[in-house]
Amino acid sequence: MKPGRKKRGELLLEVNRILYDKYGDCHCSLDYKNPLQLLVAVILSAQCTDVRVNKITPELFKKFPDAVSLAESDITELEEAIKSAGLFRNKAKSIKKAASSLVSKFNGIVPDTMEGLTSLAGVGRKTANVILGDAFGIPGLPVDTHVKRVLNRIGAVKSDNAEKIEAMVNEVVPPEYWTNLSHMVILHGRETCKARNPDCDDCILNHICAFYASSGRKRNN
Ligand code: SF4
Repeated sequence: MKPGRKKRGELLLEVNRILYDKYGDCHCSLDYKNPLQLLVAVILSAQCTDVRVNKITPELFKKFPDAVSLAESDITELEEAIKSAGLFRNKAKSIKKAASSLVSKFNGIVPDTMEGLTSLAGVGRKTANVILGDAFGIPGLPVDTHVKRVLNRIGAVKSDNAEKIEAMVNEVVPPEYWTNLSHMVILHGRETCKARNPDCDDCILNHICAFYASSGRKRNN
């Protein structure tokens, strides 16, 4: 059963409070010096670890320092520069396309609005929210696979649709918490609430988790 608005709000604020005690203020683990570098790093991070992306980007950004150089890059050279990120052909295409839209629509400057960001080729709400939250300090709630899984298991949402989940959370959680909440839930999903074999018995959220309650195990407190 879907939780009502009030219950969802109380649950998510409690999740936010408990995770904040553990993780505090979080930052994106991708290295970047400006919004364009973050945009490129986020595209590279699909199905690739942030650690690996951080190894690739220093050289990449030296070779291609701005949107114009990325838009005008030789695709084979770009593919070679990002090869170790995996899915390099698609990623090179996406980077080049996004850079071309930046040049043609925004003078090569990354826009700081959801509308502007999602108008770029290959940029969806998740990427746009990462850029808004981390590069511009504008509240955004990126919903990735970890956020989907953890919030569904806890019982805060009942949906597999990222946009609906974002709307349901944003409706009841104050904007100033969105970016950090997403970072914390992603960390919790990577470290504890893993897709396979979640560490429920040692989880700091198990006393408020619907999945745990349904398992009939003894709670933390
Ligand atoms: S109790 Fe288990 S399912 Fe619930 S949040 Fe923790 S790890 Fe995830």
